[in-house]
Amino acid sequence: MTSESQLIHHANQLYEKGWMAGTSGNLSVRTEDGFRITPSGKHKGELSVADLVLLPSSGVLPSDSPHRPSAEISLHQTIYRNCPDARAVYHVHTVEATVVSEWARAGSLELPPLEMLKGFGWRGGDPLPVFPVFSNHADVRDIAADLESFFRRKREFLLPGFLIRLHGLTVWGDSPAAAFKHVELFDFLFRFMVLSRTVSS
Ligand SMILES: [Zn+2]
Repeated sequence: MTSESQLIHHANQLYEKGWMAGTSGNLSVRTEDGFRITPSGKHKGELSVADLVLLPSSGVLPSDSPHRPSAEISLHQTIYRNCPDARAVYHVHTVEATVVSEWARAGSLELPPLEMLKGFGWRGGDPLPVFPVFSNHADVRDIAADLESFFRRKREFLLPGFLIRLHGLTVWGDSPAAAFKHVELFDFLFRFMVLSRTVSS
């Protein structure tokens, strides 16, 4: 299975989970000639490989491209530019990711020390990872600029992802399978956080 067809398979699965509702969210995979990303405004449960839009390594979209790329393409560009190991970038809108994004302090969200963190290579004795939460701007390029400056400040992402406040979750991985796994792991953590507050209140 090519990485593009894996991406399509994952788009269906993520749509079925309700994480790409109403044509929201976007997925991309790095290819030899750049990266391919889901198109803008298309239902994520009905995509095919032919719908993916190539952004060549030059960064210039071909004028004869049959579809427009996702409006959030600048987030993907920024991650691929700064993370050489990233082979896939997945951006989804889940309810719990949106809820917990409001709980960040000074741009960071503290995560609970759950066993699931070991899926990211965290070990029990390690310091608890803190998760970045960026402001949501009307123009996605402004979010990408904040992300770029985060990378420039050589702030390390302890985990392969970040939140955008009241917007959604973005992850990356060294394969489409890894990116999919990271979405699932983060979703588990965020659901736990929401549920544990609900139970204790
Ligand atoms: Zn989004």
